[in-house]
Formats: sequence, structure tokens, C-alpha cells
Amino acid sequence: MSVVLKFGGTSVATADALERVVRIVRAAAGERVVVVSATAGTTNSLIETVRAAAKGDVVGAEEIMTRLASSHDDLLRKSARKDVEETSSVLDELAQRSKALVRSVAILHECSARTQDAIVSYGELASSEIVAATLRSHGIDAVAVPATRMVVTDDAFGNAAPAFEETYARAKAELEPLLRAGKVPVVTGFIGATREGVITTLGRGASDYSAAILAAALRADECLIYTDVSGVMSADPRMVQGARPLPRLSYAEAAELSYFGAKVLHPRAVLPAIEVGIPVRILNTFAPDEAGTTITRQADTDGSIVKATTSLGGLGLLTVQGAGMSGIPGFAAKVFDTTAEQSISVLMISQASSENSICIVVPADTADRLKHALEKMLAKELAHHDVERVSMERPIAVVAAVGEGMRGTPGVAARVFGALGRAGVNVIAIAQGSSELNISFCVTEAEQARAVRAVHDEFHSAPETSASPTRAAVAR
Ligand code: ASP
Ligand code: MG
Repeated sequence: MSVVLKFGGTSVATADALERVVRIVRAAAGERVVVVSATAGTTNSLIETVRAAAKGDVVGAEEIMTRLASSHDDLLRKSARKDVEETSSVLDELAQRSKALVRSVAILHECSARTQDAIVSYGELASSEIVAATLRSHGIDAVAVPATRMVVTDDAFGNAAPAFEETYARAKAELEPLLRAGKVPVVTGFIGATREGVITTLGRGASDYSAAILAAALRADECLIYTDVSGVMSADPRMVQGARPLPRLSYAEAAELSYFGAKVLHPRAVLPAIEVGIPVRILNTFAPDEAGTTITRQADTDGSIVKATTSLGGLGLLTVQGAGMSGIPGFAAKVFDTTAEQSISVLMISQASSENSICIVVPADTADRLKHALEKMLAKELAHHDVERVSMERPIAVVAAVGEGMRGTPGVAARVFGALGRAGVNVIAIAQGSSELNISFCVTEAEQARAVRAVHDEFHSAPETSASPTRAAVAR
């Protein structure tokens, strides 16, 4: 039995949290690899330091670094009883190195992504030392291991992509001897290195990714992601009182949910583990006995239809409308070429088969820019009235009902829109992918919460239509 346990920023940020980490690691059976994030807020502060330095504000930048270094030292002294002085001097060296880099940025008034990665790596390097020392203080034979020795990446600094085969080979070579010797490696999340050994980072929030990569390399039995919430919920609890944690999700469901704003985890990040069949569990460091959410590759047939209802506000809806658009091949391509040219990501698309209008949903703050770009691109069509107008509405929200159980179940859309009708919510546009995993629709942002509640309650508190025991068990 082997497990990878990943602890997020809040799980390693205080002495109290670290005590919980110790308990969790101690209770885990078999071979254990720990992966850690930087302590909560540290990566943001480091990026702030870089920005200040790049503006030439040496004093401000050094101040932030000094504050970070002393809070890390405090945390170490509060949490560890063994190897405190040795670890403190390692932390000091790491801080000095980042400070020197920050100073050079301030002199140049310029920071490359490469230098930023080197500075930012302080966060995970420091937290892995603190966590390892804390575990050792509690009798667990832990050793800090920088991922730079294992995670080989390209040189896309700030968002580097791992070379999987090489990384897997190196991770096995590095970690297996430690595990065989009964040690608990504490590996830095988030960072890697190029073949030449230059430090890289894998993108914001990527410590989950690091954990999944190491789990896949070791063919671990489980990848446990410890965070500060008890898994993925059936809806945002701030909007829906009856929202409850979901015990199981398929990878596809998790991907749909995260796309529409469920913030718990970026599913792409756990893909390396999922692909080789390793279940990923999201657990709460602060309530470790709760079941959390288990994500697996397979569709989960718990009898539910809509498993979760999620939503994303702050969006704008652009409608390109006109009778002259229909039947013209390449029209949609022109519209989407424009969004691509403007580097605007499109969240939802819908086109009725009359082809008289195309609706696209984009972040609200890009809607003006896109409207102008579309008007410019369509100037001729607008002049000839082939396109009547490009209109814009905002702020709007996309609401999505997600669940593998929707596939092939007739009547789901009727229930979704019936519930919205009864709640008096006006639906502006609708989309359903042919995967049938997700029905999405747009409403004004003012009606976002009401729409989510209506759909959620339709599927989670409506009287059950079948007597299946699993369904009865999850019904509220
Ligand atoms: N510390 C990194 C970040 O804040 C990585 C992580 O926390 O997953 O983006
Ligand atoms: Mg994080």
C-alpha cells in the first residue's frame, strides 16, 4: 500500500494545522509520500515582491521578503522541536537566495518569467523543510525532497509542462529507495526544473498536479488531496442551503464542474493519477474523518441524475444576429477567429438551427472589446444588413447542471427548465453538449442564485420517482 498525501497552503500555514498534518500522516498506512504547497498567501506575496522589485522598489520588495522569512522561521519554531537550528539555517539560505534575486530584479527594473520562478520557488522549498522538520519532531522519519530533482519540465517558465516518462523514471529512482528505507519524503509541489536544472513552476495552484504526477510515477494506491473544505459540494453552499458534499465523482463530472466555477480542484491537475486508474480523494485537513469526495476515471452510477449544479457569474453575452447569416459556411469560423485573435476565452456557445443568431458567452470585462472587434470584422455584413446587429448583455451568469446520470435519461431538460419556470427565472440561452453530461444556460446575474437553487432543489429534494435504495439514501 502506498499513498501520496498532498497538503494545501492553509494545511501547512499554522502550528495548529501542522499538528493535524502530523496526525494524518501518522494514521496513513503503508508507504507515504507527502507533497506540500507553500504556506497560504506566500506565493502571492512572492509575486508581489517581484512586482515591487521590477518597479525598482527595492525597499518595499525586501520588506516583503524579510516578513516572509521571519514568519516561516516563526512557524518552524512553533511547530518543530527537532533539528530546529539546522532547518532554520536552511530556511535562511533559501530566503537569502530569493532576496539576492529580488535585488537583481530591482537593479534591472525587469523580471523575466525565469527569474520569477526562481524567486517564487522559495515558498514550496521553505514549507517542505518546515513540514519535514515538524514530522521528524513527532517521530516520523521525514526528509525534505525538492521536486527539482524529479519533475523534468520544458522551459515555459511560469507554466512549465512536465516530460512525463523522464519524470516518472526520476521520481521512482529518487523516492523508492527512501520509501524502502522507511522514510517519508516531503516533496515540494508546484515546482520542477528543466533538463539543465533551471527551476520552473507548473502554473498557479499546481501542487495538486505535482501530487498526481508523483502518484502516477509510483503507481500509488491513492492520491489524497488535503485541503480546507470537505470535498466537492452538490452546489455552492452560499447559494443553496441544502448543498451537500458529493461522495463520488467521475473525472468527466469533475472536469465539467470545475469549468463552471467549482473551485476545489483543477481536474486537469489530477489527470496523471486518474489516467493510470489511481483514485483521487479530496479531504479536509481540519475535519479528516469526513468522507470527502473520491474522483475516479469510471462513471459513477449512484442513481443520481443531476449530481451537482454550479454557476459562474461575471460574464457577458454577445449575440450576432441577422437573417443573412444562415446557410453561409464559415460564418461561425469568422466569429471564433475574432475571439481567438482577441485572446478571449469563450465559455458557452449556442446557435439555433435557424442560424439566425450565434450567442457567445465571455468574461464580462472582455465583452466590450469583443463587441468592437466583431463589429469591425462584420462591417460589410452590417452595412448590407446580412447581420442586423451585434448586441451585448451583462452581467450574466452561466448555470450548469452536471451528472453522468443525465446521459440517456429522457426528461432531464424538462425538469431543469420546468423548475426554472416555476421559480420565475428567465432563461436567455441554452446549451447542451452531446456528451449529455451537462446542461448549461444563461440567466442575468441577478437571477444566478435563484436559478441554481431551483435546479439543485429539483434534483436533490424532489420526491424520488424510483424506489432505488441508493437514491433514497442521498435524497434530502
Ligand atoms: N503555491 C502555489 C500557488 O499558490 C501552488 C499551490 O498552492 O498549489 O499557486
Ligand atoms: Mg494552493
